[in-house]
Amino acid sequence: MTTQANSATTELCLCGRSLGFETCCQPIHRSGAGLGITAEALMRARYSAYVIGNEQFLIDSWHPDTRPAAIDFTPGIRWTGLTVIDTVDGGGLDSEGTVEFVAQFATADGPNQLHEVSSFVRQGGNWVYVDGKNGSSVKPDNQNRKVL
Ligand SMILES: [Zn+2]
Repeated sequence: MTTQANSATTELCLCGRSLGFETCCQPIHRSGAGLGITAEALMRARYSAYVIGNEQFLIDSWHPDTRPAAIDFTPGIRWTGLTVIDTVDGGGLDSEGTVEFVAQFATADGPNQLHEVSSFVRQGGNWVYVDGKNGSSVKPDNQNRKVL
């Protein structure tokens, strides 16, 4: 048994995955429009983009029908963690999917969290974000979710 330690550190990506930013979300950011392989990967990359203020990526990965003219980065907000709770479809063979998550953040008022169910569709091979609804209105034990 060797004690050889290669460079595989347990550095976390901004989105919380143990891949490191360079191999997790950064390649998706650099691909321009959402080259996330899955809806969850794109959702994580969008969270990371909020953390670092990557407005162009957020706009590029937003559906043209619903995207804002500019991203409203709340001043003084600090994103502190992401937990993906559930995903429905959004895989390699799907054309739409949803990702439910809780994003922790802190402001001058203290820690808080955003609970959202985000909807994604695939457009020209790339996943794009359509919209989100408040996750707190979604009962965790309700398996029969309303389809938008
Ligand atoms: Zn990531």
